[in-house]
Amino acid sequence: MIVRIDQVPIQFPEPNGPSPNGAAAVQELLGGKFGEMSTLMNYTFQSFNFRGRERLRPYYDLICNIAAEEYSHIELVSYAINLLLTGSTVRGMDPSKAPLKVAADARNAYHFLASGQAALPVDSMGNPWTGSYVTATGNLKLDLLHNFFLECGARANKMRVYEMVDDPAAREMVGFLLVRGGVHIVAYAKALEEVSGVDVGKLLPIPDLSNKAFPEAKKYEDAGLHQILFQFSPNDYGQADKIWKGAHPEDGSPLRVVQGMPQGFAPPVLEEEPQLSAPGMDPDMIADMAKKVMGH
Ligand code: MN
Ligand code: MN
Repeated sequence: MIVRIDQVPIQFPEPNGPSPNGAAAVQELLGGKFGEMSTLMNYTFQSFNFRGRERLRPYYDLICNIAAEEYSHIELVSYAINLLLTGSTVRGMDPSKAPLKVAADARNAYHFLASGQAALPVDSMGNPWTGSYVTATGNLKLDLLHNFFLECGARANKMRVYEMVDDPAAREMVGFLLVRGGVHIVAYAKALEEVSGVDVGKLLPIPDLSNKAFPEAKKYEDAGLHQILFQFSPNDYGQADKIWKGAHPEDGSPLRVVQGMPQGFAPPVLEEEPQLSAPGMDPDMIADMAKKVMGH
């Protein structure tokens, strides 16, 4: 079971302005092969299917905690997309003015056709996310090796999207996720070291550019967020600290497990978009319906 909290782990800055094509690029970090939906579903299925977990509890706990964190990441990327789409069409109720004209030239018309100008489970080219992105072989070493690769691929995509989109809201999100994804890379490297004796940390960073080159990521590393593995549960999954310990392979700082979630902030307010009838529901009509239901 999972508990849901109506917060996101960063304070979003105001976006510079609408950018439908920036939003389309950011979709890669949500529904792409290496996006947050993939990390979430890979670790979720690996945890549900984990056999022999009594003997290998620390690995199970590690994967469970990271899976739970990935839910907060799909939420974070979705809000960044929604912020970039906000204001991209003309607000109002007059269809003759072609308020959605901009959508005809947007990379992803589904943002305006299939959703109320909001995030979708698709990649940067509009391809739907698919379960074929999930690897859960049941072999611990193979799955850990895959997870290490997946997080490195996710990191490469984050860096490239950062280079494509210069909006501060998008970059704040990418900076935070570079740091948290960096934790997951190191966590899977340490788990692989435990099972094999191979110094996987020597491969890092992949790609070979430090998170500290990204100002938005450096800020979170200066605050120590790259040293913390969160135990996303009040009582369970407590043995991840048998793996998440010792020194960070890049800067040598001490690693620690923190009980609970990262600091949370209110999610951005998403205003109504009447030209898309999102959410629709004319207030006068709602009042009429309420009267009828009440019988007067
Ligand atoms: Mn993530
Ligand atoms: Mn991750």
